[in-house]
Amino acid sequence: MADSQSLEHKLAILAESAKYDASCSSSGSSRPQAGGLGNVARGGICHSWSADGRCISLLKILLSNACIYDCAYCVNRRGNDGPRATLSPAEVAEITVNFYRRNYIEGLFLSTGVIRDPDYTMEQLIAAARLLREEHRFGGYIHLKVVPGADPRRVEEAGRYADRVSVNIELPSAASLQHLAPDKGRAAILEPMDLAARLIAESRVERRKSRKAPRFAPAGQSTQLIVGASPENDRQILRLSESLYRRMDLKRVYYSAFVPVSADNRLPALAAPPLLREHRLYQADWLLRFYGFTAEDILSDLQPDLDTALDPKAGWALRNLHLFPVEVNRAEYELLLRVPGVGVRSARKILRARRGGSLDFDALRRLGIVLKRARYFLTAQGKYLGEADLAVSDLRARLLALPAPEAHRPRQLDLFAGIAEAEDHFAATVRGEL
Ligand code: SF4
Repeated sequence: MADSQSLEHKLAILAESAKYDASCSSSGSSRPQAGGLGNVARGGICHSWSADGRCISLLKILLSNACIYDCAYCVNRRGNDGPRATLSPAEVAEITVNFYRRNYIEGLFLSTGVIRDPDYTMEQLIAAARLLREEHRFGGYIHLKVVPGADPRRVEEAGRYADRVSVNIELPSAASLQHLAPDKGRAAILEPMDLAARLIAESRVERRKSRKAPRFAPAGQSTQLIVGASPENDRQILRLSESLYRRMDLKRVYYSAFVPVSADNRLPALAAPPLLREHRLYQADWLLRFYGFTAEDILSDLQPDLDTALDPKAGWALRNLHLFPVEVNRAEYELLLRVPGVGVRSARKILRARRGGSLDFDALRRLGIVLKRARYFLTAQGKYLGEADLAVSDLRARLLALPAPEAHRPRQLDLFAGIAEAEDHFAATVRGEL
């Protein structure tokens, strides 16, 4: 049994170091609210979404923050001062089981710095997961980080114990990786992702045939991209995300606004972390995944960065005004989804309701469709509620003058604002507000 004081001390250091990994929702966020409902716990507990869509509390820690690599943007880099700690696999298992028994958590998000080399590090992570699964009979959720450059056999083993795996890409181009994270090559990152994608797909097929077939990361894989530490524009970032969703069937790409936690003259001098940019990327990502948009719909050579003033769907509509207004009684589902202010739920409601007869604006209101924004882009029974012949600039001004829906409103939060925004966004989209 490890000494409880030293274990507690190590846990404090390693939970703090793990905060900077956003690929687990609500990483390390702390939002006390007197008199309100909901308070994100400190002490390395974060929230994530399970394969069946439930929100679960996770213990989020690093196995070690004593990294041999020297990525310019990372608080745990070799060249940084600061307290270091490393847990043994047995200690990770012990902490997890203790927290689980006390009902603090339902699962574990385990990441790490690179201890000796990628394979040794992966062996430690796998050993912790194996102890949990086989000795402690732990059936809770496990998210394991895969270390770039690890042997494919380690990747395969990790996925046998984990519900989700993630390899962080961090920087959106090979050139930026070379510049800011020279110890990690692009191939060392993409190869385990590719392998994990194949093993996840194979496991799904096999388990459809037999529930006894071995499972591999049934909650899929995710990754994280840092926004603003390197010069790539939003179009390059979104194209990368689109390709990851298509080619590797990723569950989530997390965007993390660059926060200067490490002094290095290779890093840009930003006045503040680009939280609004991060928020717009989450919105655009949502359009890729659930609204049928492509990266090229959203951004182009002429406009390579997202408009920080306006959400990406409204921006697209303003650039494509020739498609609007659409008649709500005839428009295809895909086009309804492109109407600003009409979300997935609203579009589905419209489709269902119009089977029963033609809809006018009162019928839309009764369905709960919010028309503040949509009225500029819709007709109902041929009637238009917006002002006729508005110039694009006037329409843009009208949209900007409207109070943004809660989920679109950028807020100055703490270091982890982007993650909370992502969750808000998730909730808003479920409510059909986007
Ligand atoms: S590999 Fe790079 S990003 Fe990961 S912990 Fe080490 S220094 Fe940080």
